[in-house]
Amino acid sequence: MHRLRDKVIAVTGGAQGIGRACVERAAEEGAAVAVLDVLDQEGAALIADLRAKGGAVEYWHCDVAHEADLRSALDAAAKRFGALHGLVNNAGIAGINRPTHEVTEAQWDAVQSVNVKGVFFATKHALPHFFQAKGGSVVNISSIAGLVGLASVPPYHAAKGAVRLMTKNDAIQYASKQIRFNSIHPGYIWTAMVENHLKANSPNLEAAKAAVAASHPLGRLGAPDDIAWCVVYLLSDESAFVTGAEFVIDGGYTAR
Ligand code: NAD
Repeated sequence: MHRLRDKVIAVTGGAQGIGRACVERAAEEGAAVAVLDVLDQEGAALIADLRAKGGAVEYWHCDVAHEADLRSALDAAAKRFGALHGLVNNAGIAGINRPTHEVTEAQWDAVQSVNVKGVFFATKHALPHFFQAKGGSVVNISSIAGLVGLASVPPYHAAKGAVRLMTKNDAIQYASKQIRFNSIHPGYIWTAMVENHLKANSPNLEAAKAAVAASHPLGRLGAPDDIAWCVVYLLSDESAFVTGAEFVIDGGYTAR
């Protein structure tokens, strides 16, 4: 219940899916949580729900592709809750699913803007608060697509691979300041992102879902909480000696 007591955490893309599970579990574990997203209605509903359960939570409209949005949201969150100790860089989009020779520059840039620049902007503007707090923990949500090729979504693979190495470089850069950086590499987790991806690329959603589930040795799709519990661990002091690491949570998908 109290694994994150006295911590202030910001979660980008926190209104739904994996981000929402991170917000819920972090709030339950005693953190004050800043939810940053562009889905204002979903964000407001989540905040109302968690406040009714006693959570200290606040929502900010924030497009992670815009540096000014992140700077003002993170500054406002630190002011509202008195500090900032953790950041979950979760906001992301799947982007175009075409082979590389058919991808346009605009389609490429759209994915990098959110999935790579968003992580850079958020990290950059969280760091001054971590300096003040004399420590911090950043959890970057990469993907198995940042580890292996899946022969799909080329801009997404590039972005998630970049996030993996941004994590390790920042881990070394800021270790002396006790600011930790780790990446998580989920397999297929059942969220709107995967549902929309399967709908767009297959005529039969249920058959496609069953096939993707079967491609994981554990025989199922992941759930948002499968990721959120690892995020809680990495934000907490239980992981105080963990930095620059990559956590593969994929039901065995990449173990072959
Ligand atoms: P989702 O689409 O359900 O949720 C993504 C969230 O990010 C939404 O709330 C959305 O509004 C927000 N978001 C998108 N663009 C944004 C922007 N520009 N600014 C602010 N918020 C923005 O997806 P999800 O499956 O929960 O994905 C969360 C993260 O996990 C993503 O980074 C994704 O790449 C990664 N991931 C997901 C899976 C999976 O199978 N679902 C697997 C590996 C990695």
